[in-house]
Amino acid sequence: MVDTVSLTSLLKNPDVAHTFSGADVPDDDLLHDCVHCGMCLPTCPTYRLTGQEASSPRGRLWLMKSVTEGRLDLLDPEFDEQMYQCLNCRACEAVCPSGVQYGPLVEASRAQLEQHRPRPLWQRAGRKVGMEWPFADIRRFRALVSTIRLYQRSGLASFARKTGILRVLRLETLEAMVPPIQEKPLVSGTESWTPQHAERTVHLFNGCIMSTVFAGTNRAAGRVLAHNGCSCDVPAGQQCCGALQIHSGMMDEARRLARINIDSFERFGTDPVIVTAAGCGAALKEYGHLLKDDPAYHDRAEAFSHRVKDVSEYLAANPVQPPRNAEPVTVTYQEPCHLAHAQRITEQPRDLLRKVPGLNLVEMRESSLCCGSAGIYNVIRREMADELGDRKAGNIIDTKAEQVVTANPGCAMQLRTSLKRNGSSMPVRHVVDVLDAAYGGEAAARSGTWAIDRERSSVS
Ligand code: SF4
Ligand code: SF4
Repeated sequence: MVDTVSLTSLLKNPDVAHTFSGADVPDDDLLHDCVHCGMCLPTCPTYRLTGQEASSPRGRLWLMKSVTEGRLDLLDPEFDEQMYQCLNCRACEAVCPSGVQYGPLVEASRAQLEQHRPRPLWQRAGRKVGMEWPFADIRRFRALVSTIRLYQRSGLASFARKTGILRVLRLETLEAMVPPIQEKPLVSGTESWTPQHAERTVHLFNGCIMSTVFAGTNRAAGRVLAHNGCSCDVPAGQQCCGALQIHSGMMDEARRLARINIDSFERFGTDPVIVTAAGCGAALKEYGHLLKDDPAYHDRAEAFSHRVKDVSEYLAANPVQPPRNAEPVTVTYQEPCHLAHAQRITEQPRDLLRKVPGLNLVEMRESSLCCGSAGIYNVIRREMADELGDRKAGNIIDTKAEQVVTANPGCAMQLRTSLKRNGSSMPVRHVVDVLDAAYGGEAAARSGTWAIDRERSSVS
């Protein structure tokens, strides 16, 4: 039974002045799919932490419906609070017997808030500097990460930590979240991996964080794909996928990036587009929905989305070369929400890990419960993100595993920070990093099984 007492108390303003209007209105038909059964409630992290109906998927859908029907003002602060307290983890969607498409509904609700709700100057400035500017052009993002890399390697990082300046500038958490950046960025259009006898061709989606902070993982994916008979390149001209923008209600900017990516990959034929980040993969697979009202791009977006495959999804669907090198280690697997719930990919990463000789895979409790990363949630909603991160770290530590494996950069950073806060320095790895090591890594690649071409194109 819906807790209507706490929800109806929100309907305090009978003179509703603002309702959904303009672009990106939550689809009324999708809202009516909810039959209020409550089956989604136990899977929802915010409901589990708060026990409040308004903080549950059913409660939030009820709030959206109330705005649609003119019973709740769009600008009511509680509506804003609930739309952004949600992690958009989509665990509710995966268990819903009515097939409610919760993700598109909460994303459209946020887009409505950003169109109609006046934000204070500091919030608008924060969005411009933190969200719009760095992600609008991959070259900018790359320059930013290269500066962070220099900061980490120059000794400035330990100086800043010792002096406490990071605390004064409120950058302590953000700084702690970025792992040591080991490799130089992977610039799209400059590297490819080609086996001697290529059976298939694939194109790597490079991403913003994956091509910079986790460039080594993208290169590992290229090597693993080549080891499995794929000629793999990284098409030039691609940009950030737009997932962070979609989650923050910045739909026009997300559409701009989507059009650039579609154009870039169309130039390279119709082969599969391989993704190493669960969040990017989920966004790329939904370009058709994002561009549904754009007659010039809708069909092309649908065609592009059909090409998109998570790296573990693609590898597991084809014959996989058995890895030779033993990895005698116990690992546990953390399911990224946008892989397990949005893309429904759960078994493939586990199956791939089990192929590694000597590797012992143990399951943690609540492996599919959100770790609290959720895009930039762990930056803007620290309290709840930390609570989820601590819970996740506890579950991981309880397995007594030596390493934790995941498939999304946001999760990797959140897991590392949460484990550290809970006294563990357990390594966090990507599925393809584990496979790459078991195939012999870059050394094996260079020994002649396949060629690595770093000069194929100089266009970025
Ligand atoms: S499981 Fe689906 S139908 Fe049931 S309350 Fe949740 S969203 Fe509504
Ligand atoms: S997306 Fe996640 S946090 Fe949001 S309502 Fe659904 S289960 Fe809860």
